[in-house]
Amino acid sequence: MNIVMMGVQGSGKGTQSKLLAEKLHLPHVSTGDLFRDNLGRGTELGKRAKEFMDKGELVTDELVCDMVADRLSQPDAAGGCILDGFPRSSFQLAALETMKPVEHAVLLELDDEMALARLGGRSECGKCQIIYGANRPPKAAGTCDECGGSLKVRGDDQDTEAIRKRIEMYHKEIDALVRFYDWKGVLHRVSAAGTVEEIQAAVLAVLGR
Ligand code: AMP
Repeated sequence: MNIVMMGVQGSGKGTQSKLLAEKLHLPHVSTGDLFRDNLGRGTELGKRAKEFMDKGELVTDELVCDMVADRLSQPDAAGGCILDGFPRSSFQLAALETMKPVEHAVLLELDDEMALARLGGRSECGKCQIIYGANRPPKAAGTCDECGGSLKVRGDDQDTEAIRKRIEMYHKEIDALVRFYDWKGVLHRVSAAGTVEEIQAAVLAVLGR
């Protein structure tokens, strides 16, 4: 089953994608994570993506689609996957439909002011990448509940103007995708205003799980 997760930054899209992937035993394919991994390893792809990521811009469609096609050709994705951060343009949407037609698209809805407030307080475990925030505070400040790793604020979450720019960009990107998935009859709208557990229950309910 191929599921696309959509939602403004701060809606809990990454967290919900991970939880859903565990629950359904499907790989979690996050293009942001794939790029960060390539950046960290200093690969050619990482070097080419860096110039766009540093400016808070989208990486070119061709580069993203090549990376995703490669990831989706791995054996673990044969039975489907949870896509997070992809597609983000009409080009990517068309590419995905030819690779893995989407059966469910979940839109996590959150108003912009709430998204801004959540992003301001967000931190990520440097070891296992679990994301903490107002709706999921760590038990001990600065330390990951799961693995004891140190929590850090992601570089692109530090500047309010940059966050606003990303939210604006999100609205521009998402409109055509939402219209397409709605037209295809696979769109599910879920409120992202609750706790991690409440949102997870709502996502599973719309997927009939
Ligand atoms: P994210 O973690 O999803 O916010 O992604 C971090 C950065 O990776 C974005 O700001 C983009 O530069 C790049 N990126 C991730 N996914 C995509 C995508 N589908 N298309 C283009 N660029 C992407």
